[in-house]
Amino acid sequence: MQLIVLRYQDAIVKSQEIPNEVSLVIYISGCPFRCKGCKTPKLQENQGEELTKEVVNMFLDSLGDDITCIIFMGGDIAPDEVNELAGHVRKYYPYLKIGWYSGDETISVFTEYQNFDYLKFGPYIKKLGDLKSPKTNQRLYRVEGEYLRDITKSLR
Ligand code: SF4
Repeated sequence: MQLIVLRYQDAIVKSQEIPNEVSLVIYISGCPFRCKGCKTPKLQENQGEELTKEVVNMFLDSLGDDITCIIFMGGDIAPDEVNELAGHVRKYYPYLKIGWYSGDETISVFTEYQNFDYLKFGPYIKKLGDLKSPKTNQRLYRVEGEYLRDITKSLR
């Protein structure tokens, strides 16, 4: 099996993605989807610096308690690698919440929930809008054991 290297293009601290959390959002390259109206088409290109555990450590060590959460934005090109990074964060930074914003349709591609506190699914469909739109197809879940609680409305 060929190992896919995750790459990232930006890492920004934001407070809008998850309610009541200040998150380091890491924008991962190589998105395999082609949503019409995509707001970040550069993420469809597989370019940028390699996203390793050491890079994640560097970000988290420098931010300390300025953040309460880390979000992997994308990474559908290699969900197993995203899961591995999340597991690393869970082990070495247990005080942080962990989120994954996937562009995939369903949750069936990914069953290992314990490494995540928040999961977002659904591609961007322009006429339905993003997570803040009342018509959106996208869903944000809080992981509660094996149960996923839909908290999409809390973003509006
Ligand atoms: S999943 Fe996100 S980054 Fe990928 S094409 Fe769709 S809107 Fe763009």
